[in-house]
Amino acid sequence: MKDSTHYDAIVVGLGAVGAATLCQLARRGARVLGIDRFAPPHDHGSSHGESRITRLAIGEGEAYVPLVRRSHAIWRELEAATGRSILTQTGGLVLAPRDGAADHHGKPDFVRRTIASAQRFGIAHEVLDADGIRARFPQFHLQGNEIGYYEPEAGFVRPEQAIAAQLDVARASGARVHVDDPVLALDGGAEGESVTVRTASATHTARQVVVAAGPWLPEFLPQAARDAWHGEFEVYRQVMYWFDAGNAAGDFVAGRMPIFIWMYGDAEEDYMYGFPSADPGRPALKVASEQYARTTSPAALAREVDAAEVEAMYRRRVAGRFPAIDGRVVDARACMYTVTRDRHFVVDRLPDAPQVLVASACSGHGFKHSAGLGEAIAQRVLGQASDFDLRAFAHRRT
Ligand SMILES: Cc1cc2nc3c(=O)[nH]c(=O)nc-3n(C[C@H](O)[C@H](O)[C@H](O)COP(=O)(O)OP(=O)(O)OC[C@H]3O[C@@H](n4cnc5c(N)ncnc54)[C@H](O)[C@@H]3O)c2cc1C
Repeated sequence: MKDSTHYDAIVVGLGAVGAATLCQLARRGARVLGIDRFAPPHDHGSSHGESRITRLAIGEGEAYVPLVRRSHAIWRELEAATGRSILTQTGGLVLAPRDGAADHHGKPDFVRRTIASAQRFGIAHEVLDADGIRARFPQFHLQGNEIGYYEPEAGFVRPEQAIAAQLDVARASGARVHVDDPVLALDGGAEGESVTVRTASATHTARQVVVAAGPWLPEFLPQAARDAWHGEFEVYRQVMYWFDAGNAAGDFVAGRMPIFIWMYGDAEEDYMYGFPSADPGRPALKVASEQYARTTSPAALAREVDAAEVEAMYRRRVAGRFPAIDGRVVDARACMYTVTRDRHFVVDRLPDAPQVLVASACSGHGFKHSAGLGEAIAQRVLGQASDFDLRAFAHRRT
């Protein structure tokens, strides 16, 4: 079926980045269509699992601080507009051995980088030693040699609610949204030319296309981009675990328990992060770590989490560090990271089709920036002034 509307922009993929971009394009009055292979929010990609950490001081790089600040403001606006609960600022703790230089997300000495970021941007924070952390958060069993960065405005964002709110606002602002309709191919898109978007059910045209296909991006890129961007994106399976908080449930609720990033040893894998309970009906400590040993793809992803994985997570990381947690798991879910070599985002035009912009808030730290990033992408697509310079994420940096 041929769609007779010629759009200002079509957004392919309506996860974290695509939903934010569509929402911001529609709010600015653009004629826009968003298309997804599933019906977002869904649990097939990178944006499910109840909660994502957000923090204002960004050890991954100072360029991100304006994005996360803007994201917090946008989420508050979306909450007011839709009545959904998106952002919970429960406080956040980033901790590591004081004498180590623990890496995180490919960056050395992550705690001190985070402190430096907070100082540079005037972000409220405290630096704590082990006694200070214990006094405030007795849930953590420490070695005694830790340094902790505590940020009161950190917390978690609910990914499914954020995506749903942005799609609600996009629709209310005039965007069309087509779900369960995979995009099969893009044609055209040379400088100044329109782009044809062919899906399983229809053909559409637009002045510009934004591709925000998350972990499907590596396989979706056209051959010219694959050649030029060879090896840029790898996809890794990650697992989130919810451990029953039992009789200690009251110690693991937001307000008593912060989100945390805990590098407890010097190796990059000596690490876990976690959340207070986000669902009052299911009091649990949610934790996860990261693995970069084996790549996967959306088609090959092992979605089941087996009992041996749960046991290994508990024994190796949780037991002994949270004495109140006894190992009973209430849920465990797989998800995908899309990762670049330098662990930074990619937002760039395709080499042979500059009317197509690829946007990947990848490498395991993208959700917290997604609302602000969607706004910056919308401004770029519409040729509007922006406070954020997306050239920081140009593919050519690598
Ligand atoms: C376990 C886990 C924990 C994480 N923790 C954090 C955290 O604490 N803090 C943080 O900031 N970030 C975190 N992240 C990272 C963050 O969640 C991701 O960076 C972000 O969700 C990526 O969003 P996306 O829009 O790029 O991809 P997705 O949200 O996966 O969206 C891609 C969309 O494209 C659609 N699509 C794909 N191909 C097509 C096609 N051909 N046609 C139509 N539609 C298509 C898909 O259906 C999907 O809806 C975590 C990620 C994981 C997996």
